[in-house]
Amino acid sequence: MAEKEEKSEEKKIEAFRSPRGVHDILPMDHEYHTFIKKVIRHRARQAGFRRISTPIFEATDVFKRSIGDTSDIVSKEMYTFEDRKGRSLTLKPEGTAGVVRAFIQHGMQELPQPVLLYYIEPHFRYDRPQKGRYRQFWQFGFEVIGESDPALDAQIIQLASKINEDLGISGILSLQLNTIGTPEARKEYMGILQDYYAGKERSLCDSCKVRLDKNPLRLLDCKEEDCVILAQLAPVMRDYLDKESVEYHEELVGYLDEIGIEYTENPKLIRGLDYYTKTVFEFWDKDNGSQNAIGGGGRYDGLLELMGGQPTPAVGYAAGIERIIANMKRERIRVPSKDTLHVFVAQLGNEAKKKCLGLIDRLRDSGLKTMGALGKGSINVQLRLADKFKVPYTVLIGITEVREGTAIIRDMEIGIQETLDMEDVPERLVELIGEENLDKYSPGELLYS
Ligand code: AMP
Repeated sequence: MAEKEEKSEEKKIEAFRSPRGVHDILPMDHEYHTFIKKVIRHRARQAGFRRISTPIFEATDVFKRSIGDTSDIVSKEMYTFEDRKGRSLTLKPEGTAGVVRAFIQHGMQELPQPVLLYYIEPHFRYDRPQKGRYRQFWQFGFEVIGESDPALDAQIIQLASKINEDLGISGILSLQLNTIGTPEARKEYMGILQDYYAGKERSLCDSCKVRLDKNPLRLLDCKEEDCVILAQLAPVMRDYLDKESVEYHEELVGYLDEIGIEYTENPKLIRGLDYYTKTVFEFWDKDNGSQNAIGGGGRYDGLLELMGGQPTPAVGYAAGIERIIANMKRERIRVPSKDTLHVFVAQLGNEAKKKCLGLIDRLRDSGLKTMGALGKGSINVQLRLADKFKVPYTVLIGITEVREGTAIIRDMEIGIQETLDMEDVPERLVELIGEENLDKYSPGELLYS
């Protein structure tokens, strides 16, 4: 006996699990994904945006050059690998760099400007896994490339706010707003920051010690406790900005006031990527602050030139779908479930089974979400299964029904049954379920000829 047990232990193979930091999107969560994507697509189309998808991986330099060597993303969070020919490639950690690369590569500067693009894509960062922080996550984003005007920045913020409203989470978010000026104006401020940190190096985290030399702005964005305290006391960038940036910001704020968008001026907000100029903004969860921002964006007037394109101003926004879902759930916001079945078809006997297949097909074509129990269980077993699937109606076909060309429709809630011609079953069920609840799909009719 003991020997037997030992043997079966030996045979036990450990089941695989998903890698650390990534997760499966199970059907329940897909209902949220589907709904969120629908909102994004709808709002994007209304505003004239067209969808773009860039590859999951790019040449590593696409990200290095755009996001910046000293950023957290490039210095520690990229999934970089060599292909068989030794080329360095990286799974995309954010969306803008790839879109800009595509804009330049496909000569989109020839299109009427600004070019409005949006994406909904998986992204990858070697982040420390925790709540709201994954190694593969979904981001959607909007890019307006080709023009610079505070009204465009205001419109991007308005679009993002509208989406938050549609998703029912605007009440728990606060819009943080800042301007980080032009790179020239920032240079002076960086010197001032270096002076401020001089002598305080010992209190900084290891990453910040390195960044102090190369890009002291990054220190304002560090999440380590001691660095946060020092950043809070640091000189404020706004006091050192150029006149043009300040005026640009004032104009933006004027537009936001005009359209009734609330914001908090946050002079310490800089965003984690190097390519921003002037406007930067983030939507913070009111309870958790910057830790779990659901989205952010800003203007990046220098990026296209930096990536080898013509000087072209641009502004964009990106948000994380997993964090949005977490917030929707926290707020107990439910999304419509389109997966619930309408009809379960139960049968008894081989002849009935044959009839079922055709009937199931017709029911589905009528827009009824139908599942057939085509196993070998008794009618009672099948009815219990129908109950478990919570279908409102079951169609029963037994030997008698096959002989008479009929079928029984059973209302699963109240338990009454009606017998009718099998031919009439789809029409009757459509009537019972209601035209408005059907899942109609006729791709042939949708095609242009
Ligand atoms: P970022 O450009 O880094 O500000 O990212 C934009 C948004 O993407 C964030 O506000 C998050 O909602 C989401 N995001 C970024 N990194 C992660 C991650 N590791 N896991 C889940 N969501 C993320």
